[in-house]
Amino acid sequence: MSNRVFEHFPKTNIKSVCPICYKNHDGATVLVPINGTQEGFNMEAVPTHIQCVIDNLQYSKEQKLMGLETKF
Ligand SMILES: [Zn+2]
Repeated sequence: MSNRVFEHFPKTNIKSVCPICYKNHDGATVLVPINGTQEGFNMEAVPTHIQCVIDNLQYSKEQKLMGLETKF
């Protein structure tokens, strides 16, 4: 299993919400690295519900990109 995947959504930071649904209910979570935040081996990441990713992920063959729309 990836070291970015967790069984529970983090509750330590009350301001932490999923960028797709803007909520913080419990559920399987993946820490998604934030582009442009890499410093050495460290990178900022945002906790995101895995179900939200699965339900919203799209693939653009023309752009060779996979992605989805987020609320922030
Ligand atoms: Zn979500």
